[in-house]
Formats: sequence, C-alpha cells, structure tokens
Amino acid sequence: MMTEHNFDAYAFSRQPDYDESLTRAEFAKAVPLKTVVIYCYDPRAVGIPQAVAAELGDEFPGQIVLDGHGNKAASTANLFEVVVAGGRAVDALRSVTVAQHLFGIENVVVVHHSHCGATSFTAEGINRAYRHEHGVDISGLYPPESVCISDYAESLQHDVSLLRASAGTPHSVNIYGYFYDIDKEQLTKVVEDTAAGNTGAAGGAR
Ligand SMILES: [Zn+2]
Repeated sequence: MMTEHNFDAYAFSRQPDYDESLTRAEFAKAVPLKTVVIYCYDPRAVGIPQAVAAELGDEFPGQIVLDGHGNKAASTANLFEVVVAGGRAVDALRSVTVAQHLFGIENVVVVHHSHCGATSFTAEGINRAYRHEHGVDISGLYPPESVCISDYAESLQHDVSLLRASAGTPHSVNIYGYFYDIDKEQLTKVVEDTAAGNTGAAGGAR
C-alpha cells in the first residue's frame, strides 16, 4: 500500500450495520432512474444526453438532493450516461446491469453521432497500427464489429441486438438506437426494440 489511508467509512459494504438488501432498497428510492444513454466521449457529442432526455421526457441532469447533514444523498435525474468511444454498446453492458440492479431501468438508448472518430479507422487498421507501434496483437481483444463504425444503420442495429441478447438486460426494457447530428443537434431514431415487441428468442428465457 502506498498510504495508510482507511477508506472504509466511504464504503457502504464496510459499515458495521451493513445490510445488502436494505441498502439496495434505499438506492432504488434515492434516484428515479428510467433511462441509460450510451454515447461517444467526443466533446462535440456533449449535447446527446440532454437531447435524449427531451425526446423521452426524462429529467437530466436533475438536482442533487442533500440529506440532513448536507451530504449528497440522492438525485432527481431520470437518466444516467455511459460515455465510451463511439458510443458502442460493448463497453456499456456491465453498466446497464448495475443500473438495473440498483435503480431499475425502463429504457436503454444507444446514440452514434455524425463525423465520429470511430468512422475514421477500421478494425484491421487499428490492429495493424498496434502491431507496428506497440508490438502487440490486439486482434482478439474486442469483437471486430464493435471496434469502429463504418455504417451507422448497421452499428446501431448491432448494438441494440447486443444489448437485447445480454442476460444482464431485463426483458422489460425498451432499447433504442439513435443517430445524432452534432451540427444540427438533432436526433433521428434508427432502431426501436420495445419490450412489447420483444417476444422473440430473448423473451423465451423469461
Ligand atoms: Zn465519436
């Protein structure tokens, strides 16, 4: 250990009276979460969560709620962000699972944006560059169809399907794929996989 800091006071599960079920129930009350939005870490894409919140009638970023001691205990936000390269769903699966477990969710929204850096390279190209520049083979590290974006309709459909196929995504969740024009700041719905329409293979496991 680098320091002798004791961070136990900040960890729920390290408290002497810790009760996992009770803690989870309190979390669910602390945030009225409805929607997880997955989008790109490009600073130009910063308007996406606000646009999605407007589209779905969600509150974002909402207000932080203080407890009696002035500590930040809750939030009025209905929407959480997962910000990753290209907004690809492969990086968001675990976050969707945890959001469902702690707060419960109704919607997962994947957004891919115009002029995204993820459209500037190919899976083969990044593998080749890593081989030459870092002397490592990353060709087996990520599924090639999740590495970049070459066709927006395809990448959005792929990501919605990936989320739907994940056992960590509840069957009751609606999943949407949107294209976002960063200049017009406009969302276009490309894929819609609602819970009602989800009676196929994924629903069979219920
Ligand atoms: Zn991007």
